[in-house]
Amino acid sequence: MKATVMYSAGDVRVESVPDPRLLEPTDAIVRITHACICGSDLWPYKEMQSSEHGRQMGHEFVGVVDAVGADVRTVKRGDLVVAPFAFSDGTCEFCHEGIHTSCVHGGFFGVGMENVGGGQAEAVRVPLADGTLFKLPVGKDDALMPSLLTLTDVMGTGHHAAVTARVRPGKKVAVIGDGAVGLCGVIAARRLGAEQIIILGRHPGRIALAREFGATDVVGERGNEAIECVRELTGSFGVHSVLECVGTDQAMRTAIGIARPGGAIGRVGVPHYEEIPNAQPSFYGNITVSGGPAPVRSYIEELLPDILEGRIEPGRVFDLVTGIDCVPTGYQAMNERKAIKVMITF
Ligand SMILES: [Zn+2]
Repeated sequence: MKATVMYSAGDVRVESVPDPRLLEPTDAIVRITHACICGSDLWPYKEMQSSEHGRQMGHEFVGVVDAVGADVRTVKRGDLVVAPFAFSDGTCEFCHEGIHTSCVHGGFFGVGMENVGGGQAEAVRVPLADGTLFKLPVGKDDALMPSLLTLTDVMGTGHHAAVTARVRPGKKVAVIGDGAVGLCGVIAARRLGAEQIIILGRHPGRIALAREFGATDVVGERGNEAIECVRELTGSFGVHSVLECVGTDQAMRTAIGIARPGGAIGRVGVPHYEEIPNAQPSFYGNITVSGGPAPVRSYIEELLPDILEGRIEPGRVFDLVTGIDCVPTGYQAMNERKAIKVMITF
């Protein structure tokens, strides 16, 4: 089968690799129909050290179950399923607490784990299929597919940022980052009833989409200027909730700078800083710093009806569609910010 393999920064290729096969009785093999390139794939695309064997990429996919192991009960051959970016058993202590990304038997797709490939491929082995896969109530050509595909990661991650930043009805929210996750964070904040939603970003197309998703204000400045602008927009106190969807030191400094006393920050950008900055301002402001990898699996049931009934349209973040052979071009387009998010169809 064809799969996307990254060898070093900027060197991503589509290659023939062995077909995945069932290794455990709890496995499923999924033939992928739709997949995406994630903003988080751009970190290795910028930074990866060269690797002789490469790393199979991708962690966002929808597909049709091709085979299941003897112990799989909840999905069968022919089912259309969505997978979260992490696999999990659904039965351990942390899965029961809704933190599926900390499943004691779990792991992640597309990070080079032994015998677990990636989602930017024609097929993938899914460990712990019962706990991981969610059967979709539509066909693979359904018009809602782009939005359903965001349940694998970005919509669930934007929602997680909003939940961990404690977004509540009537509150003031800021979203740092105008990538797909930030845009889904705007959807999530509005869905949870925020009254004011300030997007921090400067890319015109993305900002326009953010406004359609529910952003009420836009701040294009960065650093201290951005902090001043947000304070001006919020009667000088700052916001109750910050959705930090970038992961840089500067983004965290801004987040702490714009959170009002007693506020909360939901971090979903993978941190590319060693220490959380501004310890004293966050301490004296009683600011909660929360967030982490979104337990997307636990949010699928909650978000799915809103997509099926048309209340949210996160699939609008896709602005480039490609086949598997052109995935490297898709990486380039996202890295150069020419595309918000790339959908791969098979
Ligand atoms: Zn678990």
